Amino acid sequence: MSTLIIGGGLAGLAAALDLAARGVSVTLVERKQYPFHRVCGEYISNEVLPYLERLGAGPAVLQPARISRLLVSSPAGRVVQAPLDLGGFGISRYQLDYHLYQLALARGVRVETGATVTEVTFDDRANAHCITLADGRQLKARVVLGAYGKRANLDRQFHRPFFQQRSPYLAVKYHLRYDFPRDLIALHNFADGYAGLSAIEDGKYCFCYLTTRRNLRQQGTIPALEERVLARNPFLAKVLGEAEFLYPQPEVINEISFAPKAPIEDHVLMCGDAAGLITPLCGNGMAMALHGAALAAGHIAAFLAGKVDRPALESRYQHAWRRQFGPRLQVGRAVQRLFGRPVLSEIAIGGLRYWPAAVRLLMKGTHGQPF
Ligand SMILES: Cc1cc2nc3c(=O)[nH]c(=O)nc-3n(C[C@H](O)[C@H](O)[C@H](O)COP(=O)(O)OP(=O)(O)OC[C@H]3O[C@@H](n4cnc5c(N)ncnc54)[C@H](O)[C@@H]3O)c2cc1C
Repeated sequence: MSTLIIGGGLAGLAAALDLAARGVSVTLVERKQYPFHRVCGEYISNEVLPYLERLGAGPAVLQPARISRLLVSSPAGRVVQAPLDLGGFGISRYQLDYHLYQLALARGVRVETGATVTEVTFDDRANAHCITLADGRQLKARVVLGAYGKRANLDRQFHRPFFQQRSPYLAVKYHLRYDFPRDLIALHNFADGYAGLSAIEDGKYCFCYLTTRRNLRQQGTIPALEERVLARNPFLAKVLGEAEFLYPQPEVINEISFAPKAPIEDHVLMCGDAAGLITPLCGNGMAMALHGAALAAGHIAAFLAGKVDRPALESRYQHAWRRQFGPRLQVGRAVQRLFGRPVLSEIAIGGLRYWPAAVRLLMKGTHGQPF
């Protein structure tokens, strides 16, 4: 087998489709069974559309919502609005990832679901990787792509610095039915956090928020947090009071870290959140995961075709990754510091109201071009 991909989110599934189209033999290992929900705001920048079309995986069949306007509110309910120059679409990860998974199967990708990679080692003499699964099986691959998301057991094995520190952030997600424009994405700030609301398929909405563990600890429970903190923002009070919540329980994740990561660890090429997570406020993580897959697939195919050796593969991929995503991640970290803090976000939104061009500039700084 030539390439093994760890993780079947957007980065892993797109890379699998891309490599398969280039004639590469691919195995993808995903620890869960499709379809499943993920904590994600489910707004995707249109910059990904040409690539999805090239992969023969355009989202139109899933009937996503088309989103072209942004509204940001401060914790006290002050508002700034702007058109989204490139725009985006809303589709649940439940549908989108399942769609890509089915295409991968149809195109000959070997997909191991319900299987967890527990160890990856590189054998210098064989110039290949040995991959161990939780059930004890061992696989060999010439190239391994780490597309296992923001945090996994493997980060400990690679001694990645961010894994040593606890991250203060957690996130909560629901699907809703609600009376709200389908072409608008709203970002509502509250003390120590922000919530995104936008349309997805089937007349539904995704409602997802990021906050700190401290905020939750102080309030005790998620309902108390929503009632006492989120609902101080009048827009969020309306959502929480009027929407029909479609899950019995929200999806919750914690340990969300925006710390810098290396794009290569022990000869494993990293992609998507495993290479670096942009703050959700920017709404660009999925586009980065797909763009990272495109970069990785091109470099891997050149290596497997004998056009470059392993040191060149690694240095070129690392360079390309940093050039493409480094500046976006830096702007994202700066923006993250502004929002969620009541006084700062009041000032920021108060100022941006009179300077809409700055909102567009921020969007440009955190988004890429169509690829
Ligand atoms: C609260 C929040 C809201 C967000 N909202 C948006 C948004 O609106 N728009 C946007 O563009 N981005 C958003 N993002 C970012 C976006 O969700 C991610 O950037 C994107 O999902 C990254 O895709 P990925 O393929 O790298 O990782 P993932 O989608 O996380 O996939 C990783 C996969 O690897 C699997 N895996 C992990 N470990 C192993 C293992 N050892 N063996 C086998 N499989 C394994 C996991 O089960 C998972 O399926 C948001 C993020 C958060 C936290």
